[in-house]
Amino acid sequence: MIEAEPQVGGLCRTIQHVPEAEGLLPGLSCDFFFDLGGHRFATTNKELEKEITGLMGSELVTRTRCSTIWLNGKNINYPLELIDLIKKMDIFTSIRCGLDYLKAVLKRTIFSPPNVTLEDWVTNRFGKTLYSIYFGPYSAKFWGVSPNLISADWADYRITLTNLADVVLRLFKIKKDTPTTYIKNFYYPKSGGIGRISACMQEVIQANGGIIHLNSTIKELQVDKNKVIYLMDGRLNSMDYDYVISTIPLPGLIHKISPTPPDEYLEVVSSLRFRGIRFFNLCLNKERVSEKTWMYIPQNDIIFFRIQEPKNWSENNAPAGKTSLILEIACNKGDDVWNADDKSIYHLCIDGLKRIGFDLEGETIDYFSVRVEHAYPIYLLNYKNHLQKLLELLSGYKNLVCCGRQGLFWYNAMDEAMNSGFETADKILGMVQKG
Ligand SMILES: Cc1cc2nc3c(=O)[nH]c(=O)nc-3n(C[C@H](O)[C@H](O)[C@H](O)COP(=O)(O)OP(=O)(O)OC[C@H]3O[C@@H](n4cnc5c(N)ncnc54)[C@H](O)[C@@H]3O)c2cc1C
Repeated sequence: MIEAEPQVGGLCRTIQHVPEAEGLLPGLSCDFFFDLGGHRFATTNKELEKEITGLMGSELVTRTRCSTIWLNGKNINYPLELIDLIKKMDIFTSIRCGLDYLKAVLKRTIFSPPNVTLEDWVTNRFGKTLYSIYFGPYSAKFWGVSPNLISADWADYRITLTNLADVVLRLFKIKKDTPTTYIKNFYYPKSGGIGRISACMQEVIQANGGIIHLNSTIKELQVDKNKVIYLMDGRLNSMDYDYVISTIPLPGLIHKISPTPPDEYLEVVSSLRFRGIRFFNLCLNKERVSEKTWMYIPQNDIIFFRIQEPKNWSENNAPAGKTSLILEIACNKGDDVWNADDKSIYHLCIDGLKRIGFDLEGETIDYFSVRVEHAYPIYLLNYKNHLQKLLELLSGYKNLVCCGRQGLFWYNAMDEAMNSGFETADKILGMVQKG
């Protein structure tokens, strides 16, 4: 295995951090652990669940999700709960939401309006008011483009709650099926963050003779010679392969293929774009900030779109008596937010936190950023045709299989990525056995 980072796990890795001021804070009971945005392991795939719980044994504990949306100065529970919504929204907004919702149902029944964009999808189900106070601003902040330019496919995949009637049916327990995004309980490692799952997989692979080259970046894939060229310790190396499974972001992979694919394929590569994230991590001299696992912040004058407190995922993610926050900031590689120094971002974050009721300036021990260029595949309106074209190209390379979130330009969760890894391995083993 060839991995560009110094540790395995990709987006599911965990950064272990010792604050620079540790000398001034002797005797911390443990280091700080930061996921790249808190990752929960939840799945409806029983076989996979058995595999992962078997692998991790007593290292895995069950946690309960507690998420809120910060709206007009109030924390609204997410997934939405009817009584909570009515209690926290003012009467006029509640009435407008209700009327707009009825209008949307009528329009849907009589005219069957098309669901082309994310905006269509949400307004056709929830009505215009909920779109304008939450879904619209949150999506624009998150994607960095108007929700009118995002395909409704993304909402189909991500927003499982299809309409307000669902909220009511679930509230009164009339509807019982539970989609993955709705699952309340999830697994999380007791210590070491979500990255422990990949670390345990690494131990099994190495114990069985597998070789993992870390800090090694694939530069070229010579499909005519079944050879990979990779950079390790500042030197180019090569490795022959029978099959190659790639999790390299799909557009980047196309540029690494040799002989160079025809222009008609190279031309569509740049239209498959990813949204980046700058994770801004704060170490705090405070017992706890809140009880929440996720807090969503749709306001576009606050720099981060989501807050997580790692201690609420596991007590062992921060030393005793201290806590930490992960603030997720959407950006694109090379833009002003990506390039800004940590100090400027720190001040913007502290200001944003103060505005939602957390005054943490005097409690800060340390802060640092982790930047990820390929965090979310952006499903722009025309993405499907371009993706199809590249998959058609790849299907011509018999010994190359693309896999996972970046590799297939597929907005997935870690259980789906793991499952696609297991399925690919089974398929290749089957082909090898058949000869
Ligand atoms: C902010 C955020 C929060 C999330 N939260 C959750 C959650 O709570 N629960 C959940 O189930 N899922 C969550 N996910 C989704 C989850 O992270 C992904 O589904 C999963 O990481 C996909 O795994 P992957 O192996 O396909 O891709 P990745 O994790 O991106 O791994 C790709 C790997 O390929 C390596 N690579 C790329 N190019 C090269 C190269 N040229 N040479 C060598 N190596 C290379 C990378 O270094 C990386 O290790 C979240 C994602 C994000 C961005």
